[in-house]
Amino acid sequence: MLPIVQLKEVTHAYLGDREASLAIENFSLHVEAGEFVSLVGPSGCGKTTLLSIIAGLLQPSRGEVFVSGHTVSGPSPEVGYMLQQDYLFPWRTILDNALLGLELTGRLNEISRQKTIGLLGEMGLAGKEYAYPAQLSGGMRQRVALVRTLSTNPGLLLLDEPFSALDYQIKLQLEDLVSETLRRRGTTAILVTHDLSEAIAVSSRVILLQPNPGKIRRIFTVPEAIRSTPPLYARDLPGFAELFHEVWKEMELAGREKL
Ligand code: ADP
Ligand code: MG
Repeated sequence: MLPIVQLKEVTHAYLGDREASLAIENFSLHVEAGEFVSLVGPSGCGKTTLLSIIAGLLQPSRGEVFVSGHTVSGPSPEVGYMLQQDYLFPWRTILDNALLGLELTGRLNEISRQKTIGLLGEMGLAGKEYAYPAQLSGGMRQRVALVRTLSTNPGLLLLDEPFSALDYQIKLQLEDLVSETLRRRGTTAILVTHDLSEAIAVSSRVILLQPNPGKIRRIFTVPEAIRSTPPLYARDLPGFAELFHEVWKEMELAGREKL
């Protein structure tokens, strides 16, 4: 199958006034259609840089980036990008916030509007369409941001620590909701998280990065039994704790070697 995301020897250096800092070096990765992969690793190892490059928001210094076989040259409606903060506009209603992506890409019509209202319902937000962001909890606002990202029906979803600001219980519920929704839609996803158990619970592969400069240290394949179980229950399966410790140990080593 054609990979949805292909990075070939991507290097990126941020240029400052006095010096250049190498954020990622010779990074290659394939993500297949329908796959859910996670990027984990110590802070500063280039996770956000990688997502911004895949999203077309940042042009890498070197290397090639393809999404669905096409060279990435800028942002595209095919790719949804969701961040830790929800970035909802406080003066817009929930529905108007959710419709923003469709509006900006010129695809807002009665059909897409109704679909978005349906999606708000699926995310447990029925009845909140005409409320304002300040009237909603953090978990609800994150779900609105997710609806906004999904409303344009992107084939690829990039998630940069979308659950990390939430309470633990809400975070677990959202993991379930997101992984179930993406599975049903066949959306390919790349999740950045600093929560190893979240990474293992939701993804098919966990890609561990190491810093200075950012590169792949090791790729862990999540066993099918864990992968096909909803995240909340996956954590209780045999093999989960072992895999967690394996990834954790390797991440410790990566951090220590770079001190
Ligand atoms: P992560 O998301 O894994 O924490 P980042 O991709 O944000 O890592 O950062 C990777 C490296 O690039 C870090 O050393 C960081 O300081 C540096 N960096 C990130 N963004 C910028 C920027 N806009 N200008 C200069 N350096 C940056
Ligand atoms: Mg980051």
